[in-house]
Amino acid sequence: MRTETSSLLTAAWRGFRLTCPSCGQARLFRAYLKPIDVCPNCTADYSGIRADDGPAWLTVLSLGPFLVPLAFLIAVSGWPALITYPALAGMIIGAVLLLLPRMKGVVIGALFVSRGKA
Ligand SMILES: [Zn+2]
Repeated sequence: MRTETSSLLTAAWRGFRLTCPSCGQARLFRAYLKPIDVCPNCTADYSGIRADDGPAWLTVLSLGPFLVPLAFLIAVSGWPALITYPALAGMIIGAVLLLLPRMKGVVIGALFVSRGKA
């Protein structure tokens, strides 16, 4: 059953906020990257939606333009590599871990809306 999901952008934004793309109230994930099967609030069914490689692709695509110049600037800055490279690696890992479930929510939201229009 679908509720008032108004648009692709609304569903994607709700997914980015890790909430149900349909109602925006319930949590979308029951674990770090495991989406719920059915929303307990609006009964939207997410069991058939598979995000596959989309979230990883979106994560790399959105972080790359920021991280590549940052890595370049750190490399040419002359700062000690023993400190800067582990710090940069930690920042990259942290950013990926923070962004990956949000991108999965975006993909699930987009697939949820497009599934209803097919
Ligand atoms: Zn819902």
